Amino acid sequence: MPAVRRSKRLQSLQSSTKGARQTRSTQSTAQTLRGPFDRPERKIARQQISKTQTYLNRPSTKVLSDPNHATPLFRIPRELLYLITTHLPPAGLACLTLTCKLALETLGIDIWAEFRGRARLLHGPEGSLCKLLARDLPGHEYCVRCETAHPPLRPPREHRVNKFTQSCFGSDATIDYWPQLEEGGYSIVWPHIQRAFEERLPGVVDSGTIELFDGELTVKAGSVNYTLRSSAHWIKRNLVLQQEYRLSSRQGVLQAVDVTSLPLRICAHHTTATTPPTPPSVRHHAAKPVPNSPLLTHAIATAFPSNLSKKLPKADFRDPAPSEATQMRTGAGDPEFIWRCRSCPTKFRVAHSPENGGELIVNAWYCFGSEIHRAVDYWKWFVRRDLASLGVKKRNSEFYAPSRSVPDFAIE
Ligand SMILES: [Zn+2]
Ligand SMILES: [Zn+2]
Repeated sequence: MPAVRRSKRLQSLQSSTKGARQTRSTQSTAQTLRGPFDRPERKIARQQISKTQTYLNRPSTKVLSDPNHATPLFRIPRELLYLITTHLPPAGLACLTLTCKLALETLGIDIWAEFRGRARLLHGPEGSLCKLLARDLPGHEYCVRCETAHPPLRPPREHRVNKFTQSCFGSDATIDYWPQLEEGGYSIVWPHIQRAFEERLPGVVDSGTIELFDGELTVKAGSVNYTLRSSAHWIKRNLVLQQEYRLSSRQGVLQAVDVTSLPLRICAHHTTATTPPTPPSVRHHAAKPVPNSPLLTHAIATAFPSNLSKKLPKADFRDPAPSEATQMRTGAGDPEFIWRCRSCPTKFRVAHSPENGGELIVNAWYCFGSEIHRAVDYWKWFVRRDLASLGVKKRNSEFYAPSRSVPDFAIE
C-alpha cells in the first residue's frame, strides 16, 4: 500500500491528536479498543465502554470465525498493518475502520474523535470524510453545501422540500406557491435555475422545452380539481418558465368563489388570499402590512360569466396601485389580456372556458433573464417571504409588494 501524502495542516493535526491520545493512554485505563496508536496488550475496561460502542463487542467465537481474517489485509502481521495505516490520512483511516467489523476491532475508533465538531469540516487532499464515505453509498451524492451524503437533487416535478432543503440551499432557496402533496407537487429550488443556465447550449436564442422543468399534476383542493402543467423554454435568450393552471369543479358548476377561496397563488405578490397578513413582531412594529392587492381576484371575477361570480364575498383589499388600476380597467373580462406583476417578472392570462362544467385556465410566465446574475436578482423577487420576524425590507409577499422596475419579456 503506497504511503499517502498528507497536507501540513493534517499532519500537524494528526501529530497533535496522536500526542494527546498517547498521553491519555498512559494516564488512564479508559482504553476501550485497540488501535494503531494504542498498546495492543492493554485490557479493555468493560464498565467504561459507552453505549455507542457496545455493538462492537462480538463474542470471541464470532471474532475468530470472521471470514475477513482470510483477506490479504488482515493476514499480514498486526504491527505491520498498524505501521501501514499510520500513512493514511485521518479521513482515509476512518473510512477503513468502517469497511467491516474486523477492521473496526483491529484499528479501533479513536480516529473518529478527529471528526467531531468543527474538525469534521477539515479537508485533506483526498477530500473530507463525508466525500470519501459518499463514494460507497449508491443512490447518494456528496453535498458540499451541507457536508452530507444524501440523494441527489430531483427535478421540480419530483422534488419536495425536506429536512435537507434549508441546510443545503438556505431558507430563501424555495418557491413555495405550488402544491407539494403526496399525490403530486412542483417545487423549484435555486439550483434548478443554476443547472438550466449551466446546461444552456452556447448562443441559444429560442429553444424547445427544457426537460428539467416539465411537470404535470392534478390535486384535489377544496371543491376544485387543481391541475398544473409546467414547462420552460429559452425565449429571446431569456429563461421563461410557463405554468398552466386549470381549475374545474369537483361537483356542479365552477363558481369564481371556488377559485378565490383556495386561495390561488400565481406569484409571491398575486394571490386571492384575504386572510389578514402576518402581524409584525413588536420589534418591527413600524412594518405595518397593508391588505392584499385586488388585481388577481378582479381578473378572475371578471373572467367568469357574471352569473358565476355573484357569490364573491366583499373582501378587504388595498387600493390598486396606478399601474394595477390601469390593468383592471382595460383587462377586465378580456381572455387575451396579459396581466403583469409590478414586483416580479411574472405575467399571466386568465380565461374561462364553459366546457367540462366550466373551467378557469390561467397561464403564467416567469422570466429568469438571460444571464445568471440577473436570475439571482429575480429569484429574490420570486421567493415569498412573510414572517413576523422579518423587517419590511426583507419581506416579499402580497402584503409587502414593492414597486420595482421589472423588465418586459417575450412569452412566445
Ligand atoms: Zn446538502
Ligand atoms: Zn409578483
